[in-house]
Amino acid sequence: MVVTRSAEMPRRQFLAAAGFTAATAWLAPRALFAQSDDVLVPGAFKEASTAKVTVQTLRRNISVLLGAGGNIAVLTGPDGKLLVDAEIVTSRPNVSAALASINPDPVKQLINTHWHFDHTGGNDWLHEAGANILAHENTRKHLSKDTRVEGWKHTFPAAPAGAIPSTVFTDEHTLNANGSTLVLKHYAPAHTDSDISVHFTEADILHTGDTFWNRDYPFIDYSTGGSIDGHIRAAEANLAKVTEKTLVIPGHGAVGGKADLVLFLDVLVEIRDKVAALKKQGRSLEEIVAAKPGARFDAEWGNLFMTPSAFIALVYQGV
Ligand SMILES: [Zn+2]
Repeated sequence: MVVTRSAEMPRRQFLAAAGFTAATAWLAPRALFAQSDDVLVPGAFKEASTAKVTVQTLRRNISVLLGAGGNIAVLTGPDGKLLVDAEIVTSRPNVSAALASINPDPVKQLINTHWHFDHTGGNDWLHEAGANILAHENTRKHLSKDTRVEGWKHTFPAAPAGAIPSTVFTDEHTLNANGSTLVLKHYAPAHTDSDISVHFTEADILHTGDTFWNRDYPFIDYSTGGSIDGHIRAAEANLAKVTEKTLVIPGHGAVGGKADLVLFLDVLVEIRDKVAALKKQGRSLEEIVAAKPGARFDAEWGNLFMTPSAFIALVYQGV
């Protein structure tokens, strides 16, 4: 079955139609402790192979590609295309078509916001097509060897040589391309230990990577340095970077702005505090999941990679 997502089709409906939610729906409270099925990552590969990739024009010469994996920012101009993130590897045909629909220029520069497969999946083919890859040093570290993500029950093999970023930095990096100044900043460990933000200064567009999910519960990768408290600190850091005029590209979800960052921070803090209080009272994870600490957000926020119970389990792990 080929299912493509249109603007008229809500994401949850699309994911259900694509069979993708089957990959996460097993996370019923009873299964939280025992499940060992490596299903989410294979499910994402399958979904991305058919998912539509749409192009949204933002400001100046900057657009965003919205598909099944992480959102891709595209900066065009005489230097060739610059991309922030590279989607899931199986989305290559649809990402290629979306890029070609903007203009025929080659991709010359790729920046990874962090090491995860739904943001670096295109590294190898984009490098082969002529792109230099730039990332935080921990992205190179995780891609260079077999890396297990317990939260996904999946071990990623070391990436091929072409997919490894050739240029890395530690804290901050600035580059100029196509008349834009890009400021890259590393976050303290948040979603992973490799997260960076990319600010297109003149256009005032901020790509946050997966430190911000717009109206979706975030995955938190404890296996490579992430934590709920780190995620909250990064959400606070994002708020400090923006004004009312800033356009914010999340790792997942629609392009938003400052108000969406405020909401994301509020949701994380409220659920973290409720889960922490219940855990302190000695309640088990099963009991806390059953208490539905995110009840007022679950219908909207628990529909992408993370079911409400899976998100509560990740918060519980860190409080
Ligand atoms: Zn991620």
